[in-house]
Amino acid sequence: MANRKSEIGNPGHDTAASRAGRKLAVPRVGVGYDIHRLVDGRPLILGGVKIDSPRGLLGHSDADVVLHAVTDALCGAAGLPDIGELFPDNDPRYKDADSRTLLADVVQRVRAAGYAAANIDVIVHAERPKLSPYKRAIAESIAGLVGLPPELVSVKAKTNEGLGPIGQGEAMACTAVVMIVDFRPALDAAVSCPGFPIAD
Ligand code: MG
Repeated sequence: MANRKSEIGNPGHDTAASRAGRKLAVPRVGVGYDIHRLVDGRPLILGGVKIDSPRGLLGHSDADVVLHAVTDALCGAAGLPDIGELFPDNDPRYKDADSRTLLADVVQRVRAAGYAAANIDVIVHAERPKLSPYKRAIAESIAGLVGLPPELVSVKAKTNEGLGPIGQGEAMACTAVVMIVDFRPALDAAVSCPGFPIAD
């Protein structure tokens, strides 16, 4: 195991870090996806930002499809249970839950294991309303929740060219990719973290 850890920490490159005997952090990547049905009489909240829209997303919680995708991406990167396991949609505690609190919970779990988000890339799949005016606010909201500078959070909005349930305005979806990094000085310290078997 020690040899393998060494290989992971120093993949054979003659870097300043390796010459100094320091191990290099191993980044981890996670992907998240979510989709919710659009209905009348619900607020539309994307990335923690209230969007001006006559229709909103249906769900047990506030149905913030963007934060759900980001949260699941973090879970995937960190090897945590997925969002549905952590916050079941049949649990009354999460009825109408503010999805910012769910993301904050997962951010704490990731930090407790010694990791922090390095950057986040988000695609919102939505036919309408046009989300261009909201992209910056959504990125800043996500950045604040995860503890990143806003320039390290990218939010893109794509229509579905009128195709399928998203294109027909029946649903919105979101895809998110997150990179997390070990923020502690030595890779060895991560080995003792449950759920983070990064070195063996
Ligand atoms: Mg969801």
